[in-house]
Amino acid sequence: MKCGAGIEARQVNELFINVDPIQAGGRLTGDAIKAIIAYGDGYSVCDNCRKPNRLDCISKPPIAEFHKDVAAWLGMDAARMMPGARRAFQAVAHTYVNKGDPVLLTSLSHYTEFLAVEEAGGVACEIPADAGHIVTPEATVAKIDEVKKKFGKAPVLAFIDHVDYQCGNLHDVTGIAKVARENDVPVLCNGAYTVGILPVDGKAMGVDFVVGSGHKSMASPAPSGVLATTAERAKEVFRTTTIEGDVTKRRFGVKEPELMGCTLMGATLVGMMASFPHVKERVKHFDRELENNKIVMEALLSIDGTKILSEYPRKHTLTRVDTTGSFDRIAETHKKKGFFLSSALNDKGIFGLIPGATRVWKFNTYGTTRKQARYLADAFVAVAQENGMKIGA
Ligand SMILES: *Cc1c(COP(=O)(O)O)cnc(C)c1O
Repeated sequence: MKCGAGIEARQVNELFINVDPIQAGGRLTGDAIKAIIAYGDGYSVCDNCRKPNRLDCISKPPIAEFHKDVAAWLGMDAARMMPGARRAFQAVAHTYVNKGDPVLLTSLSHYTEFLAVEEAGGVACEIPADAGHIVTPEATVAKIDEVKKKFGKAPVLAFIDHVDYQCGNLHDVTGIAKVARENDVPVLCNGAYTVGILPVDGKAMGVDFVVGSGHKSMASPAPSGVLATTAERAKEVFRTTTIEGDVTKRRFGVKEPELMGCTLMGATLVGMMASFPHVKERVKHFDRELENNKIVMEALLSIDGTKILSEYPRKHTLTRVDTTGSFDRIAETHKKKGFFLSSALNDKGIFGLIPGATRVWKFNTYGTTRKQARYLADAFVAVAQENGMKIGA
């Protein structure tokens, strides 16, 4: 099937079990697909925009209600939809960071957090993760002390990943937020891998901001995301415009500069809204996702020489493994070299491994059914056996 302009219809999620780390939680629901078709036109959500003329105030479709629901669902007071988690980082960094200010990140932070700090003129101060790739409250205290000595002041903001993208490890945001608060450091919890995947409560964690990624973890079209915050911080990051034209004396009411007035329009926003009831339901069943991950992980670990680099037992379905001692040995002599693994898996209907990777790679079993998890487990073992590898106990 062609879409015209040389574009072929993409059928990855129809034809394969997709374990691509960044795609698993973003796959659209049927309702989101319908919403995209219905609201694909440019400013379609603006049909019924009335005073005060701001996206999050529109009641038909129920955009205003959606914003309230999302904020409450994240245990926060206010929320805005953003074009990706990264734009939420940018809005927060731009509000709190001035040139030369120290900002806390971690040694596992995502590059978009670094770029947000860079753009605001801040200095990246990384809290080092421990040997098990976990960022701890203790390491946070030590880093805050180091920053205070070096800069003569505390960090102005901390970006803490709830689950990091490198190992998929779950970090003690509650503990970290506590020590940050004791030093008056506002905390942004980066839930790019958790909001829409498992229950997230910003108030319970004691953070100032919760950021989520719609297209990574909320079954939503790109670019989409959420920035939720407390009533107090909302006054700062969602402040309204004060600018005035010198000739026309025009002012722009309740428009919010950090959001450039209105953010997600049309298909992205309505797609997010359509998936939201499904997303709210699915976070309650994260235990099933971990069980499926375990089925696959145990199969992988039964292949002699395979190591897991993420914390184990897993607390998230994004998992990093080291197969230097197993699949990579086969790659040394295989005629397809490292491509043998992704290619063999593709042949079995599995998509999402980086083609050619046989040493350190990641996969994400999120959204698989039990049957698909068993199929994945068997497929990894079958590829190993087909290549004469040893299967342990
Ligand atoms: C994917 C990811 C991001 C970026 O999310 P976008 O919604 O694409 O901007 C940020 N942080 C982490 C930890 C991520 O995994």
